[in-house]
Amino acid sequence: MSDDLHDLYQDIILDHNKRPRHYGVLPDYTHTAAGYNPLCGDKIDVFLIVQDKRIEAVQFEAACCAICKASASMMTETLIGKSLDEAEIAFKRAGELLSTDRNVAADLSVDGEIAALAGVRKFPARIKCATLPWHTYIAALKGDAELGTN
Ligand code: ZN
Repeated sequence: MSDDLHDLYQDIILDHNKRPRHYGVLPDYTHTAAGYNPLCGDKIDVFLIVQDKRIEAVQFEAACCAICKASASMMTETLIGKSLDEAEIAFKRAGELLSTDRNVAADLSVDGEIAALAGVRKFPARIKCATLPWHTYIAALKGDAELGTN
């Protein structure tokens, strides 16, 4: 990854951390789960409104580090309005972007801002911070109120 691209990804993450989108408890949610990452101390609650197999709303509340908060904020923007099938694809894509095994190329024009997640691969110890919101979203969808600590 070029340094310019890395700076761009860093800017996106810093912006989402500073101004998290869709932050706060979502009234009338249909699904929720709490996630915890003991490696960093990140705690997050994710709230969803799912209707007719479509994600109408996603919000989160968190006491967590910048990478976790930015990832959660980008996640809300990515998931809102998607069908559950489309959301599943986005979830898998986020996992790919955060995987150091695959090192897939990210593309802002295709992936949107979650391309910035690829920048987190430079900091392997922080990958769990970035994956926590996404796994908490899946836990909420599946009806697991509490996400395990792994
Ligand atoms: Zn963290």
